[in-house]
Amino acid sequence: MTGEPVLEVRDLCVDYGVGKGGVRAVTDATLTLRRGEVLGLAGESGSGKSTLAYAVTRLLRAPGVITGGEVRFHGPDGVLDLLEADAATLRRIRWDQISVVFQSAMHALNPVARIDAQLTDALRAHRAQLGPAERRERAVELLRLVGIGEERLRSYPHELSGGMRQRVMIAMALALEPRVVIMDEPTTALDVVTQREILDELMQLKDRLGFAIVFITHDLSLLIELADTIAIMYAGRIVELADAQRLFHSPRHPYTLGLLNSFPALHGERVRMEGIPGAPPALTALPAGCAFHPRCPFALERCAHDVPRLTEPAEPDGAPADRSAACWLHTGGEQVPEPLARVLGSTL
Ligand code: ATP
Ligand code: SF4
Repeated sequence: MTGEPVLEVRDLCVDYGVGKGGVRAVTDATLTLRRGEVLGLAGESGSGKSTLAYAVTRLLRAPGVITGGEVRFHGPDGVLDLLEADAATLRRIRWDQISVVFQSAMHALNPVARIDAQLTDALRAHRAQLGPAERRERAVELLRLVGIGEERLRSYPHELSGGMRQRVMIAMALALEPRVVIMDEPTTALDVVTQREILDELMQLKDRLGFAIVFITHDLSLLIELADTIAIMYAGRIVELADAQRLFHSPRHPYTLGLLNSFPALHGERVRMEGIPGAPPALTALPAGCAFHPRCPFALERCAHDVPRLTEPAEPDGAPADRSAACWLHTGGEQVPEPLARVLGSTL
């Protein structure tokens, strides 16, 4: 991706708890979201995806603590370090510039307020210049944007289907035309047909309005379709970061390869699903070295004690890597196993 950065995360660390009882849930996360881009965050449950997103938006709740790093937001008034921003600045930016769509709309919407009140509240708080009639007009327009008719404005959340509630959440997230929308498993609770409809609409809206999306899911196959760039997380670390198509056709990290082998290909011949043996580690008992080594089919001797950093792998065809992986197989001198040495295009 070549667009201008809108959100830059550098060396972000997040712990749950402090002192002896504390555990590190996100370690040295570094990534860049660009204008109009969809950045996917994938990984098994507990890998730290939500923690990273909530830390970035400063929505992290105790016992979560940000213990290091930098989050630079490129807003209309210049660059702002979100980790240094005071409460008033964060209030001004949230919804207006950065909005979040949570996993469960039922829990995120106020159950005792009608949809119109919930939509117009955000407009009243952030767009004081709009009168009541203009706010209502904008609420109607927003619902229409996500495929919901005006007659639903007076409904309570429980009167809407799961898909409609999720659409309302998306309308609310877009109400103030933010630069960044963070979506944490936004459609997981919905059936696949509704999920597909909402995601198609979302992508059309993104192209029209130009916002960037951080899309969090455990469903890597979904991200390969939706995302421009994908970051794979394992045990709190980003272990691979690459263009979505390159990641799909020529993964470099054994964990990415395992995730790709865990779901059926949409096209091509039927193959036996291999999955990944074992389970992700508990944060209280992270293996030394590469945290993936007890499950890795390609582990080397050093993997049990040296932590690999995210670096550009040497590409077999000598092309610039333009992606990164945290794996000792790619730091030179090792015979890289065939599935992790593919050149993009050789498997298309
Ligand atoms: P999921 O897909 O299940 O939402 P995730 O990848 O988003 O998982 P997180 O929810 O960010 O992962 O959790 C990362 C780690 O932090 C997990 O090991 C989890 O147990 C731990 N964790 C999350 N919330 C807390 C908390 N409030 N207190 C202690 N540990 C927590
Ligand atoms: Fe496997 Fe070692 Fe690479 Fe970790 S560093 S993914 S254990 S080969």
